[in-house]
Amino acid sequence: MNIILLGPPGAGKGTQARILVDKRDMVQLSTGDMLRAARTSGTVMGKTVAGVMDRGELVTDEIVIGLIREQLEDTSHAGGFIFDGFPRTLAQADALGKLLAEMGHTLDCVIEMQVDDDALVARITARSTCANCGEVYNDNTKPVPATAKCTSCGEAAEFTRRADDNQESLKTRLLAYYKQTSPLIGYYYAKGDLTSVDGLASMETVAADIKGALG
Ligand code: AMP
Repeated sequence: MNIILLGPPGAGKGTQARILVDKRDMVQLSTGDMLRAARTSGTVMGKTVAGVMDRGELVTDEIVIGLIREQLEDTSHAGGFIFDGFPRTLAQADALGKLLAEMGHTLDCVIEMQVDDDALVARITARSTCANCGEVYNDNTKPVPATAKCTSCGEAAEFTRRADDNQESLKTRLLAYYKQTSPLIGYYYAKGDLTSVDGLASMETVAADIKGALG
């Protein structure tokens, strides 16, 4: 089964993708994670996209479609792919449809995670991540343990905040979402692929709703 998690920054796509990876043996393909890895390893592409990402703008379709193509070619299909943060434009959605068709795969479901803007700002500015395993924490609802040991991997890791998780770049990221990504809701609705869930519900409830949608 191949699915897309669609929603604005902070909707909880990464958290739900991790749950699906654990429970269903699916493979998470997050273009944001791929781009951050390229920056960390200092590749030419990583250097090219750094400023764009820090400002909260979208990197070019060509770059992200190339990243997804490589992953689809190199990764064994296992329980299916979860596209997290991709596609983000109509051109990316068309390219994904073609890539999947070329490889003999189908797109089975697009889950739209609905969250209101005030909640997104509150979530994102309070967010930190375990540098070892990627577990996501929130200062208000799921603080980093006093022991500073990650509850998921057990390591005394660093808990980092993303460079683009600040008010200024968040404004640009939200604008990019509404201008360039939200048209995908109509696009997938018209194709009959869309299911919407309340992303403001608890993590467990959202996971149960997604499970219900996937069957
Ligand atoms: P994310 O981790 O999904 O929030 O992505 C972080 C940043 O990476 C975004 O704000 C964009 O600058 C860039 N990015 C990630 N995925 C895409 C995509 N599919 N298209 C364009 N830019 C992307």
